[in-house]
Amino acid sequence: MRIIKTISSMQRYSHKERLLNKTIGFVPTMGFLHEGHVALLRRSRRENDITVLSIFVNPLQFGPHEDYLLYPRDKKRDELFAKKEKVDIIFYPSEKEMYSTNFLTTVHTATLSEILCGQSRPKHFIGVTTIVAKLLNAVLPHHIYLGQKDAQQAIIIKQMILDLNWPVGVKIIPTVREHDGLAMSSRNQYLSPQERKEATCLIQSLTAAQQAIQQGERNVNNIRNLMSTIIKKNKNASIDYIACVNKTTLKPVTVMTNDVLILLAVFIGKTRLIDNMIIRL
Ligand code: AMP
Repeated sequence: MRIIKTISSMQRYSHKERLLNKTIGFVPTMGFLHEGHVALLRRSRRENDITVLSIFVNPLQFGPHEDYLLYPRDKKRDELFAKKEKVDIIFYPSEKEMYSTNFLTTVHTATLSEILCGQSRPKHFIGVTTIVAKLLNAVLPHHIYLGQKDAQQAIIIKQMILDLNWPVGVKIIPTVREHDGLAMSSRNQYLSPQERKEATCLIQSLTAAQQAIQQGERNVNNIRNLMSTIIKKNKNASIDYIACVNKTTLKPVTVMTNDVLILLAVFIGKTRLIDNMIIRL
């Protein structure tokens, strides 16, 4: 396993491997790796000759009062994880390497970035699309691996790649969960023991929605009420949003006639958690 810190050496490495007809799979992360990231790495290893993992806590995607400084970082632990998963390259750029002082250009995928999580985190997705664009240009991969856990993010990145003509295949990997169903996330470690218990209300509400739909419920308001009743039973939980949308366009659904994507964001104490489920009719 090699650690590469500069964009130019990353590009040199990828150019060389591409000339040898090697395929490159790319897993972008903000580090503090867990089994969710591991699922992405394993798929990439299975489907490519080379796997590049990037670790970069991207300041551009955090709002002014969000957890950029607090976000968990542990380089040694991440390296051990990566080595165990037989990652070929960790791309580990500094903030200065990614954003020079003269940095002026951002990438914005309109509409999709302004709804759902984009409403409560206004510049978040501009930060995400900008860093992913820059990472794609550094890593030059054949495939990028993203988690279904961040469903809106995956849809936006897919759209950006299509719009800007990158020859990169997008692979979306199912959400990896804890034993009680909580979606794995680096942010789960912010939760107190009481909050950790309450955090299962996200998956509980999604599962209840799924059951109701399977039993014939088609009214979106009823589904959202059902979910919100379950969440509100927890004293530290407050709902940011619950939405039922089309799974490719993210457009709101009023009456369910087709597969539906249910997404939600809930604060458990100060920690904002997200989750989602595609429900097939
Ligand atoms: P992050 O480090 O949180 O920015 O996540 C990096 C990548 O891992 C993103 O594509 C996420 O969607 C994905 N990811 C994070 N948590 C999970 C999970 N529990 N299951 C599957 N993928 C995940």
